[in-house]
Amino acid sequence: MLRRDRSPSGEITRTNCRRCGKEVHGIDGRYSCPLCGWVNHWSEGHTTLPTGRDDNH
Ligand SMILES: [Zn+2]
Repeated sequence: MLRRDRSPSGEITRTNCRRCGKEVHGIDGRYSCPLCGWVNHWSEGHTTLPTGRDDNH
């Protein structure tokens, strides 16, 4: 049985540049502005980062 790899996520998203305000498009929540070079942090993308994980002592 062949099983295809999980298709790469390529959801086009857009936001406004936080530096110059231009509308920038990105993929999966990652952006880079062509005008001023602003890029958002990768952690703001639609990644599977653990959020609010339990931190048991
Ligand atoms: Zn910009």
